[in-house]
Amino acid sequence: VAQTGAAETAAAPIAAETESGPTTRFQCNVCGAQCTFSIALTRLREEPSCTQCGSNLRFRTLIHGLSVALFGRAVVLSEFPLRADLRGIGLSDADLYAQPLGQRLSYTNTYFHTAPLLDIANIGTTEFSGLDFIIASDVFEHVAPPIDVAFRNARQLLRDGGVLVFSVPYVPGIKTQEHFPDLHDYVIEKDGEAFVLLNRTREGELQRFEELVFHGGPGTTLEMRLFSYEDLQRHFLAAGFESPILLDEYLPQFGIDWRGEYCSIPMIARACAVPDAGVS
Ligand SMILES: [Zn+2]
Repeated sequence: VAQTGAAETAAAPIAAETESGPTTRFQCNVCGAQCTFSIALTRLREEPSCTQCGSNLRFRTLIHGLSVALFGRAVVLSEFPLRADLRGIGLSDADLYAQPLGQRLSYTNTYFHTAPLLDIANIGTTEFSGLDFIIASDVFEHVAPPIDVAFRNARQLLRDGGVLVFSVPYVPGIKTQEHFPDLHDYVIEKDGEAFVLLNRTREGELQRFEELVFHGGPGTTLEMRLFSYEDLQRHFLAAGFESPILLDEYLPQFGIDWRGEYCSIPMIARACAVPDAGVS
C-alpha cells in the first residue's frame, strides 16, 4: 500500500498517526466521516481509528455485517434506511453505534446491570421476542457458565432467519478454557492489591481463584472463559443457528482489514427455521 501524500496526512486532526507509519483513507461506515489514519492502527481490533466517532475495526465490522444481513448490501450506518419494522437489541453495545441504530431501526440497547435490563443467561419473561437481529459484541466471554444457555436464549429471542451479530475473543482449537466451570454462588473480593473469586459450588465445595482477568480495567468485567473457534461453531449449531460466517472480507473503503489476523474476527449467524434443529 502506497504511503499517502504529505498534504493528506497534514489534513488529519490526530497527530499521533504520523508517528505510526503510513496512513490509509477510508469512510467510517458508522458515522460516515472520511478518515485518514495510520494503517497499522486501523488494523487493530480495539484501537479507535475513526477521527470523528472513534470507531474501531471491530465496530465497523459489526455494522458492516449487520448491514449486509438486513439490507443485502453495504450501507453506512448514518445512511441506514429508516425501518421501524426491523427490530433488534444490543447487549451493552457501545453508544457510538447504538445511538444511531436506535434512530434508524427499532433497536434497544440492553444492559446486565441497568434498564433496559436483559441477562442473556436468564431471559425470564423478557419483553423481547421475534427479533430480526441481536448484537452481542465481546459479551459472551463474560456470561456465567454454562454458556450454552446464552446461545440458546439468543436463538429463542430471534425470529426464524434472524441474525446474531457476534464477537468474542477466541483462539484456534477445539476446547474452550472455562475459568470457573463450577461457578454457582460466588463473590469477587479485593485481597490486597489483587482480586480473588470465592465460589461455593452446587455441591457445597468452596473454591478460591486468583489471577483473574478483567476486561476494561481491574475489578470490572470478569473474563469467564477463553473460547476456541471450533467450540464456538459447535455452540451456534447446537443452539439452532446455521454455521457462523466470519466477517473477514477486505473492505479498505471502510477501514476494514483483517488480513493476517487468525482469530477474534467478528461473525454473524442466522437462526435456523426450526429451533434446536442443529447438531446436538
Ligand atoms: Zn466514525
